[in-house]
Amino acid sequence: MMPLSFYNTASRRKEVFTLPKGDNTVKMYACGPTVYHFAHIGNLRTYLFEDLLHRTLKYYGYGLNHVVNITDVGHLTSDQDEGEDKMEKGAARTGKTVWEVAAFYTQAFMEDWKRLNIQEPTTWSRATDFIPEQIKLVQILEEKGFTYRTSDGIYFDSLKFPRYADFAKLDIENLRKGSRIDMGEKHAATDFALWKFSPKDTKRAMEWDSPWGVGFPGWHVECSAMAMKLLGETIDIHCGGTDHIRVHHTNEIAQSECATGKPFARFWMHGEFLRMGTSGGKMSKSTGEFLTLSLLMEKGFNPLDYRLFALTSHYRNYLNFTWEALESAKESLKSLHKKTDPLIGKATAIISAEALQWQAEFKEAIGDDLNIPRALGILNSVLKTDIPEGEKATLVLDFDSVFGLKLNEEREDIAPKSDVSVEEIEVLIHARTAARASKNWKESDRIRDELSARGIEIKDGPNGTTWSYK
Ligand SMILES: [Zn+2]
Repeated sequence: MMPLSFYNTASRRKEVFTLPKGDNTVKMYACGPTVYHFAHIGNLRTYLFEDLLHRTLKYYGYGLNHVVNITDVGHLTSDQDEGEDKMEKGAARTGKTVWEVAAFYTQAFMEDWKRLNIQEPTTWSRATDFIPEQIKLVQILEEKGFTYRTSDGIYFDSLKFPRYADFAKLDIENLRKGSRIDMGEKHAATDFALWKFSPKDTKRAMEWDSPWGVGFPGWHVECSAMAMKLLGETIDIHCGGTDHIRVHHTNEIAQSECATGKPFARFWMHGEFLRMGTSGGKMSKSTGEFLTLSLLMEKGFNPLDYRLFALTSHYRNYLNFTWEALESAKESLKSLHKKTDPLIGKATAIISAEALQWQAEFKEAIGDDLNIPRALGILNSVLKTDIPEGEKATLVLDFDSVFGLKLNEEREDIAPKSDVSVEEIEVLIHARTAARASKNWKESDRIRDELSARGIEIKDGPNGTTWSYK
């Protein structure tokens, strides 16, 4: 059998995946969401790819220490340290505090994960819980001479890291020449903020003391600081979306490797975009229109229909979203259930040579850089064979430990558990918070009762109000 191999963005080729001798736990870090808005289904495609990776590593018998960060500070509207802070912008848009915005969207995000049957990471790490670690990393870089100060922050001096352009194969000459105009006080266009000072004229909701003055960390520094704190100086796999390669991951490598003198990650893996069928464009929050999982559910789709849709394309290929394609994934999942539902509860040990052969082929497919489309083909082939029912049932369960399609549960056409959309819940909870602030208990109770009657339970806690389906 071919050994487990993954395409490594760093080398631009498929490499055999092994761990350093004596180690059986994979240290994996995945860049998570900036919790200022709902995740769109394009973002979710990336987390589905990482879930397939997570499940495949486990299928291969590895232990896994999987960290996903929650960015709740420092991510500006441009990845290059310009524009507004996304969290503060989200707060202004919704009239909430940044902490409420973060708590609300973090919860909405986790709800999406559950609905898509994405495995929980070992640790969710919030950027604001690791401010001292981020400051420490900047201090190390400063001591080693990799930083300089401008009037608005502490910057990483990318010219001092000669390999800066290698990871993303950047045309550095042109890049540096082309953007000379809007560089501000930066020495080179590829330099980036490690610590930003709070603007003198405005009070930020999120800011901290530091050796350089009151401010907040840059977005890139959080991932390096948390990955190193939680997983060590060299991690096994770092993943994210392809949009992270040029700036975010390039900067993570630069600052981490300059701080430690060691390679930051052994494998870098990136999921390709979801494109919108009609325009062929990348789905983006900045254009204002994007599809959420809740919206798909309101239109009568089961979240697992979307999961199967995402599984039909290899993670390194573009996937075009159209409603027709989602509809056909829904039909495929239904017809799959017609074949697998009758097998539920019938699993027996696999003994026949044919069943063992199918299992080996499946393992090889997923181990070949997560060739899930091929693995789905193998499942369909197995269901057509006449190997004993019990063994077939076992193979379905075995394969589904990677697919995550819940083929062990009878298919019920899950309509949303409530007629209230997530967006509406947000509005109602916000109205209730406002009512409570003005001591209008009658109104606040009325909203609680309305939500309750429509299947939503709310709870007030130190980080604001959270909700769940009853
Ligand atoms: Zn990151």
